[in-house]
Amino acid sequence: MMENRFVNQQVRPDGDLAYRILDGELTWFPLPAGGVLPRELRDAERETDNLGRLHPGTEHARFWSHTLPRIIELSARCTPGVTWWCAPVLDFAPATYAGYSWGSHPVVQLSTANRTRHVVSLAYHEAAHSCEHLCSDAEFDAWNVAAHSTEAWDEDYDDRPEERRAILFEAAATFLACGGDLLTHPAAPANAVLGAIYSGAIGQRRVTRQAVCAPVVTVKPSLSARLLGAVGLGGVSDWLQVPSET
Ligand SMILES: [Zn+2]
Repeated sequence: MMENRFVNQQVRPDGDLAYRILDGELTWFPLPAGGVLPRELRDAERETDNLGRLHPGTEHARFWSHTLPRIIELSARCTPGVTWWCAPVLDFAPATYAGYSWGSHPVVQLSTANRTRHVVSLAYHEAAHSCEHLCSDAEFDAWNVAAHSTEAWDEDYDDRPEERRAILFEAAATFLACGGDLLTHPAAPANAVLGAIYSGAIGQRRVTRQAVCAPVVTVKPSLSARLLGAVGLGGVSDWLQVPSET
């Protein structure tokens, strides 16, 4: 196991890697062929059933030098206190996902080998899902109205309300990251909430425990204890469920 606060742009370890990112801190692990499951998910009090298993795959050639540093930065800014697990392939059998936010449970997963959209764009999408329950009613309403002001998406999945909201933020965040000004963005009525998610003002509520809406998923005491500071202190076996040799 190697640890580093910052990605050395010249040296990437060989092999397939899983990345664990929390508050700007990166740890990476070699991925076994059979995949691994973050213990934070195994212990979550919901029917995970090995959903979200991390598998090897082929990342974008510039993922390490160009994409990973941006994910580290935006995850720390938009979702403080949320653990991001990134790996080439996310196995949510029978499907693979480009990304997944576990709602109010502070874990986000991201595929580093996705080809449907840029990984940074998808990272903003998952950050939006992760911040949604931290919004006030007024913020949520403004965001939701703006998200439904456009035509229906072709895919039923994308047309779901939560996906519409995440896609709207994904577009706004990409616009801001490229130097755009939200005052001129088509989703003007939602400028305040979109800007607050982007800046991290809303994500910070998780840390300061000022969330307006109560979490909808309970967490086992054993997991709570780990999340309250001890999560970074263990070895690989504390974080990953590695398949047995047999
Ligand atoms: Zn989504």
